[in-house]
Amino acid sequence: METTRLEPFIIDTFKELHSCPELSYEEFGTTAKIKSILQKENIEVLDLPLKTGLVAKIGNEESPVVALRADIDALPIDEETNLPYASKTPGKMHACGHDFHTAALLGAALSLKSTEDKLKGGVLLVFQPAEEDAGGALKIVGTNALKDAKVIYGLHTSPLYPVGTLGISPGPVMAAVDRFTVTFVGKGCHAAHPDEGADVIPLVSEFVLALQTIVSRNSNPFAANLVSVTKVSAGNTWNVLPETAEIEGTVRTLTIEDRKMIKSRFYALAEGLAAAFGAKVKIDWWDGPPPTINDVLWTNFVEHIAEKEGFIVEAATPSLGGEDFSEYQAKIPGVYIKVGTGETYPHHTSKFVADPAALLPAANLLAHLARETLRGIK
Ligand SMILES: [Zn+2]
Ligand SMILES: [Zn+2]
Repeated sequence: METTRLEPFIIDTFKELHSCPELSYEEFGTTAKIKSILQKENIEVLDLPLKTGLVAKIGNEESPVVALRADIDALPIDEETNLPYASKTPGKMHACGHDFHTAALLGAALSLKSTEDKLKGGVLLVFQPAEEDAGGALKIVGTNALKDAKVIYGLHTSPLYPVGTLGISPGPVMAAVDRFTVTFVGKGCHAAHPDEGADVIPLVSEFVLALQTIVSRNSNPFAANLVSVTKVSAGNTWNVLPETAEIEGTVRTLTIEDRKMIKSRFYALAEGLAAAFGAKVKIDWWDGPPPTINDVLWTNFVEHIAEKEGFIVEAATPSLGGEDFSEYQAKIPGVYIKVGTGETYPHHTSKFVADPAALLPAANLLAHLARETLRGIK
């Protein structure tokens, strides 16, 4: 595709994707659209056992290989942006900018394809399903399609920066995400005879407060760790002490060591307090994605290329949000880059918008990173 047609193509694609959001693992229309664009440009789509999402390849077979990743899924939110290209599906919205990532990667693909004979290796284009459901990256990793990749880059929209600014930092930039449910089982009884039961209400109250001592007493005071209890439920009337109490919540950490420490303290407090109150405890724990940790050397490289492309580069403030880009970084060095898409409402809200003016620079950055990385590694 000619360079002059690239920007209108990316913007139109972005708007189309924005108007047709699909939730995690339901991205059938989105995948079909990506595939048809790639195939029209004679870009090879790999034959992989993926229901949604895909991986495509540009360049020659010989090493090295670099990977570029975009996530493609939307969120269960009713859009309230009043954009002319707003979601046509009530209750679904691209409120995290994954439509932007997809359109930018398609733009990069077309740009790379037009200079394919000059590429010094292969570029894998990863259109990943289900980032919001935190399982999509593992599906891609499970296909083994990235086994030869030496480095991976991923962009994310950021409403914290204006168009033309990037947020990049070496080291941890997004948190490990763990989720828990804890059920205490005591002995229910008449509210007037607590001595005949094992009351779970003071137990769960102590536990919620004790959890906060993990961050305040067991963590390095300079570490950014978090334990949030987001749901507490017990009992259903005023004169009966309930048999069970349940809480749910999430743990966020920026290092593997803190992640292990918090889990171990969490179990010790739950089991110790349950025993002290004469109750039993059942803990369900889900390990989400690990922390997103940017490779130091490749981060320096990205900063250098981004500045050459005319971006203002700022140090990204780490976030305790999660991002399954980390599943790739667990296998290969990678850099997660926050792209300014205009200062606006936060991600995951009904008024989030990404400025289309940021699309072409983002696509050019991805293409340039792929070309220069291949030139740099042998
Ligand atoms: Zn999101
Ligand atoms: Zn996102």
